Amino acid sequence: MAETVIKLGRNKKASTFIDKVKEILPEGGNLNACLTCGACASGCPATGLADMDPRKFLRMAALGMDEEIVASDWPWMCTMCMRCIYVCPMKIDIPQLVFNARTLRPREERPKGILGSCDAALKHDTGSAMGTSEEDFEFVVDDVLEEYKEAQPEFEEMEAPIDKEGAEFFLNQNSREPVTEPDEMVPLWKILHTAGIDWTYGSKGWGGENYCMFLADDESWKHLTSTTIGQAKKLGCKTYLNTE
Ligand code: SF4
Ligand code: SF4
Repeated sequence: MAETVIKLGRNKKASTFIDKVKEILPEGGNLNACLTCGACASGCPATGLADMDPRKFLRMAALGMDEEIVASDWPWMCTMCMRCIYVCPMKIDIPQLVFNARTLRPREERPKGILGSCDAALKHDTGSAMGTSEEDFEFVVDDVLEEYKEAQPEFEEMEAPIDKEGAEFFLNQNSREPVTEPDEMVPLWKILHTAGIDWTYGSKGWGGENYCMFLADDESWKHLTSTTIGQAKKLGCKTYLNTE
């Protein structure tokens, strides 16, 4: 396997990223005491991608290699799963470090797929990463529901409510399904119906993903989250059920 070559002495300027690294160390954490034990790398799903792993990434940060970090695509491959935090004996918050690394790159230069999905989610209050409007979502849900009720009489009483006030659960939804695989929405409806769960989608905030979080766009992340939580509160739902 090819190895990432770390060339020392290339960075002449003072690092700014290392200061952020130090800020996020929890009490008792010590970056300089990273044991290079590799526990973080061993369970990381992004290990090996772009010849990197969290241990190498951390070392580059500690060495002040800001430019290399900004240029590397590896931080964009981190899933933010947080496995590394749980196994690190020095309690180093690598996903937060990755998030900070992402903010170093100008927004328009961040990966197109994530950027496009975040921008699409900001088009409507639905938060759909596919840019689906309230009206289109309602049309698809109603259409699919009617089709299934007709084809499967045992589910004649099944509902897929949108903006039902006072429902127990506020459910969000993968954005791709209503557009590309609408039938994929139905199994969960059936489970909820069979279990007798009182639930609803929101016309606003039903899009379950938050690509703006992965884009490290704090303001847009907050906007999407506030919109969906705001709709759940407005409807008086007691529990927010995140499927994504
Ligand atoms: S698990 Fe923690 S101490 Fe071990 S290599 Fe990774 S960052 Fe360093
Ligand atoms: S949070 Fe990122 S770096 Fe940590 S284990 Fe998950 S993918 Fe790897």
